[in-house]
Amino acid sequence: MVITQNVDGLHQRAGAPHVVELHGSLFRLRCPDDRCAARIPAPDPSARVDEPPPCPRCGAKLRHDIVLFDEYLDPADERAAKEALRACHVFVAAGTSGVVFPAAAYVREADDAGARTILVNLEPPSPPNPSFDDVVLGRAEEVLPALLGADPLTS
Ligand SMILES: [Zn+2]
Repeated sequence: MVITQNVDGLHQRAGAPHVVELHGSLFRLRCPDDRCAARIPAPDPSARVDEPPPCPRCGAKLRHDIVLFDEYLDPADERAAKEALRACHVFVAAGTSGVVFPAAAYVREADDAGARTILVNLEPPSPPNPSFDDVVLGRAEEVLPALLGADPLTS
Protein backbone atom coordinates (compact mmCIF):
# COMPACT_ATOMS: atom_id res chain seq x y z
CA MET A 1 0.00 0.00 0.00
CA VAL A 2 1.31 3.42 -0.97
CA ILE A 3 0.01 6.40 1.00
CA THR A 4 1.02 9.57 -0.78
CA GLN A 5 0.67 13.30 -0.51
CA ASN A 6 1.47 13.58 -4.23
CA VAL A 7 -1.38 14.69 -6.50
CA ASP A 8 0.38 13.89 -9.77
CA GLY A 9 -0.39 10.17 -10.25
CA LEU A 10 3.32 9.30 -10.01
CA HIS A 11 2.79 6.04 -8.10
CA GLN A 12 0.02 4.81 -10.41
CA ARG A 13 2.21 5.52 -13.45
CA ALA A 14 4.98 3.53 -11.74
CA GLY A 15 2.61 0.57 -11.44
CA ALA A 16 1.68 0.69 -7.75
CA PRO A 17 -1.60 -1.24 -7.48
CA HIS A 18 -2.89 0.22 -4.19
CA VAL A 19 -2.47 3.98 -3.72
CA VAL A 20 -4.19 6.25 -1.21
CA GLU A 21 -3.91 9.84 -2.42
CA LEU A 22 -4.31 11.81 0.80
CA HIS A 23 -4.23 15.16 -0.98
CA GLY A 24 -6.37 14.10 -3.94
CA SER A 25 -5.49 14.00 -7.61
CA LEU A 26 -4.97 16.39 -10.48
CA PHE A 27 -6.52 13.68 -12.65
CA ARG A 28 -9.98 14.26 -11.21
CA LEU A 29 -12.32 17.24 -11.02
CA ARG A 30 -14.95 17.66 -8.36
CA CYS A 31 -17.95 19.84 -7.72
CA PRO A 32 -17.31 22.43 -5.00
CA ASP A 33 -20.91 22.08 -3.81
CA ASP A 34 -20.83 19.45 -1.02
CA ARG A 35 -24.52 18.61 -1.60
CA CYS A 36 -23.66 17.60 -5.18
CA ALA A 37 -20.09 16.26 -4.71
CA ALA A 38 -19.84 15.05 -8.32
CA ARG A 39 -16.42 13.73 -9.32
CA ILE A 40 -15.30 13.22 -12.91
CA PRO A 41 -11.98 12.42 -14.61
CA ALA A 42 -9.97 15.51 -15.56
CA PRO A 43 -9.71 15.95 -19.35
CA ASP A 44 -5.94 16.61 -19.39
CA PRO A 45 -4.19 17.70 -16.19
CA SER A 46 -1.30 19.26 -18.09
CA ALA A 47 -3.49 21.36 -20.38
CA ARG A 48 -3.94 24.98 -19.48
CA VAL A 49 -7.57 25.70 -18.69
CA ASP A 50 -8.71 29.30 -18.45
CA GLU A 51 -12.24 28.50 -17.39
CA PRO A 52 -13.12 25.40 -15.35
CA PRO A 53 -15.80 23.22 -16.92
CA PRO A 54 -19.28 23.17 -15.40
CA CYS A 55 -20.47 20.35 -13.14
CA PRO A 56 -22.49 17.86 -15.26
CA ARG A 57 -25.05 17.56 -12.43
CA CYS A 58 -25.56 21.07 -11.07
CA GLY A 59 -23.63 23.45 -13.31
CA ALA A 60 -21.25 24.80 -10.64
CA LYS A 61 -17.67 25.42 -11.80
CA LEU A 62 -15.63 22.27 -11.16
CA ARG A 63 -12.25 22.36 -9.45
CA HIS A 64 -9.39 19.88 -9.24
CA ASP A 65 -10.06 17.14 -6.69
CA ILE A 66 -7.15 18.11 -4.47
CA VAL A 67 -6.92 19.07 -0.81
CA LEU A 68 -5.74 22.62 -0.22
CA PHE A 69 -4.48 24.10 3.05
CA ASP A 70 -7.26 24.39 5.65
CA GLU A 71 -9.36 21.76 3.85
CA TYR A 72 -10.24 18.36 5.27
CA LEU A 73 -8.91 15.11 3.85
CA ASP A 74 -11.43 12.76 2.27
CA PRO A 75 -12.70 10.54 5.13
CA ALA A 76 -12.50 7.43 2.92
CA ASP A 77 -8.81 8.11 2.19
CA GLU A 78 -8.08 8.70 5.88
CA ARG A 79 -9.86 5.49 6.80
CA ALA A 80 -7.94 3.47 4.18
CA ALA A 81 -4.65 4.92 5.42
CA LYS A 82 -5.43 4.11 9.07
CA GLU A 83 -6.42 0.54 8.21
CA ALA A 84 -3.17 0.05 6.31
CA LEU A 85 -1.15 1.47 9.20
CA ARG A 86 -2.79 -0.88 11.70
CA ALA A 87 -2.09 -3.90 9.48
CA CYS A 88 1.43 -3.14 8.22
CA HIS A 89 4.57 -5.00 9.25
CA VAL A 90 7.04 -2.63 7.61
CA PHE A 91 6.46 1.11 7.31
CA VAL A 92 8.73 3.12 5.01
CA ALA A 93 8.49 6.90 4.78
CA ALA A 94 10.40 8.17 1.76
CA GLY A 95 11.33 11.68 0.75
CA THR A 96 9.33 13.61 3.30
CA SER A 97 9.95 16.44 5.69
CA GLY A 98 7.74 14.61 8.15
CA VAL A 99 6.09 17.81 9.31
CA VAL A 100 2.78 17.86 7.40
CA PHE A 101 -0.01 16.32 9.47
CA PRO A 102 -1.79 13.96 9.57
CA ALA A 103 0.76 12.02 7.49
CA ALA A 104 3.53 13.08 9.89
CA ALA A 105 1.82 11.04 12.62
CA TYR A 106 1.54 7.87 10.54
CA VAL A 107 4.95 6.56 11.63
CA ARG A 108 3.82 6.65 15.23
CA GLU A 109 0.64 4.73 14.39
CA ALA A 110 2.65 2.10 12.50
CA ASP A 111 5.16 1.93 15.37
CA ASP A 112 2.34 1.51 17.88
CA ALA A 113 0.96 -1.32 15.71
CA GLY A 114 4.33 -3.11 15.93
CA ALA A 115 5.67 -2.38 12.45
CA ARG A 116 9.35 -1.93 11.70
CA THR A 117 9.65 1.73 10.74
CA ILE A 118 12.19 3.17 8.33
CA LEU A 119 12.77 6.72 7.13
CA VAL A 120 14.50 7.18 3.77
CA ASN A 121 15.38 10.81 3.24
CA LEU A 122 18.20 13.15 2.24
CA GLU A 123 18.29 14.65 5.73
CA PRO A 124 17.69 13.21 9.19
CA PRO A 125 14.44 14.19 10.89
CA SER A 126 14.69 17.40 12.85
CA PRO A 127 13.97 17.09 15.69
CA PRO A 128 14.81 13.35 15.82
CA ASN A 129 11.71 11.15 15.64
CA PRO A 130 11.91 8.22 18.09
CA SER A 131 9.11 6.38 16.22
CA PHE A 132 11.54 5.50 13.41
CA ASP A 133 13.56 2.33 14.07
CA ASP A 134 15.96 3.16 11.24
CA VAL A 135 16.91 6.27 9.30
CA VAL A 136 18.62 5.72 5.93
CA LEU A 137 20.07 8.87 4.44
CA GLY A 138 20.18 9.04 0.66
CA ARG A 139 18.17 9.48 -2.49
CA ALA A 140 14.93 7.45 -2.47
CA GLU A 141 15.53 6.17 -6.01
CA GLU A 142 18.82 4.64 -4.87
CA VAL A 143 17.99 3.58 -1.30
CA LEU A 144 14.58 1.98 -1.90
CA PRO A 145 15.74 -0.56 -4.52
CA ALA A 146 18.67 -1.47 -2.25
CA LEU A 147 16.30 -1.97 0.70
CA LEU A 148 14.14 -4.23 -1.45
CA GLY A 149 17.15 -6.15 -2.76
CA ALA A 150 16.48 -5.03 -6.30
CA ASP A 151 18.92 -3.72 -8.86
CA PRO A 152 17.84 -0.12 -9.60
CA LEU A 153 19.15 -0.39 -13.15
CA THR A 154 17.03 -3.39 -14.09
CA SER A 155 13.93 -3.01 -11.96
ZN1 LIG B 1 -22.28 19.76 -8.91
